[in-house]
Amino acid sequence: MKKQLLTVIVSCYNEQDSIPYFYKEITKVADRMKPLTFEFLFVDDGSQDNTLQVIKNLSQKDQRVRYVSFSRNFGKEAAMYAGLNYAKGDFITLMDADLQDPPNLLIEMYDAITQEGYDTVGTRRVTRKGEPPIRSFFARCFYKLINRLSKVEMVDGARDYRLMTRQVVDSILMLNEYNRYSKGLFSFVGFRTKWIAYENVERVAGETKWSFWKLFIYALDGITAFSTIPLMLAGVIGLLFCMVSFIAILVIVAKTLIFGDPTGGWPSMVCIVFFVGGVQLFCTGIIGQYLSKTYLETKHRPIYVVKETEQE
Ligand code: UDP
Ligand code: MG
Repeated sequence: MKKQLLTVIVSCYNEQDSIPYFYKEITKVADRMKPLTFEFLFVDDGSQDNTLQVIKNLSQKDQRVRYVSFSRNFGKEAAMYAGLNYAKGDFITLMDADLQDPPNLLIEMYDAITQEGYDTVGTRRVTRKGEPPIRSFFARCFYKLINRLSKVEMVDGARDYRLMTRQVVDSILMLNEYNRYSKGLFSFVGFRTKWIAYENVERVAGETKWSFWKLFIYALDGITAFSTIPLMLAGVIGLLFCMVSFIAILVIVAKTLIFGDPTGGWPSMVCIVFFVGGVQLFCTGIIGQYLSKTYLETKHRPIYVVKETEQE
């Protein structure tokens, strides 16, 4: 019987220092998984350092190394999508280059698919050691919020590191939307999923590409991509305000008729005008978010542009 192929997709953005460590570890794991042949697919996400050169050197030494290089930085979501597109494996895994996704978990993940009958195995961090506490706090709030807002389940601490069968990958490739939020897309396609928990590992080299602000925007992307409930908010708030103002009008009319009070209160009036104005702008902003996503989606721009691959 022909040996089955496992593709390891590694998205790399300025990872020249991590790749050698990563390659060493992943080849060790590959040696331990004898029933499989391996393919290491590096996606260079428009790195400005020597990442591409490091990958090319590896591919000259090792036949199993393939690569795709982008014309500029398109972001990790685009890199993962390209990886899934180019992967030839029967099993496919997504990994970071910084060894924060422990490669030896792969063995356990593979067993879960072949022996326990799962279609896909995801990983989640149960600790956030080494991360600023404020970031962990916001991350936790985000997961609570998005799970309230969305029908698709988002697992707290879930990583992009996962092993999938070809069938799962093909169904993810069918979701070719421009605004990609992979954590949601993986849950969206369903299939039997096993979760493996592990302790957070710190980067081997280089530094994280995520600033707090970038993560915040990413969180908003997640919400707009997987929930339309915020759009209902404007309607609900509007209705509430109508009711409140109707009651207020009745009270004022009654007071004037019965007690003959002149209606005073310029300062309170100003506050109300500001408040209502603020709420309206907020709601318009929410609609704007969805509109901008729709706008970008209708342009049908490519998710990534490839400059070169190992075939040339
Ligand atoms: N990455 C990428 N494109 C980007 C940013 C990051 O391909 O625009 C890759 C990066 O090289 C790494 C992985 O995505 O392999 C995770 O990035 P990072 O370690 O910075 O994120 P963190 O682990 O801190 O969430
Ligand atoms: Mg990392």
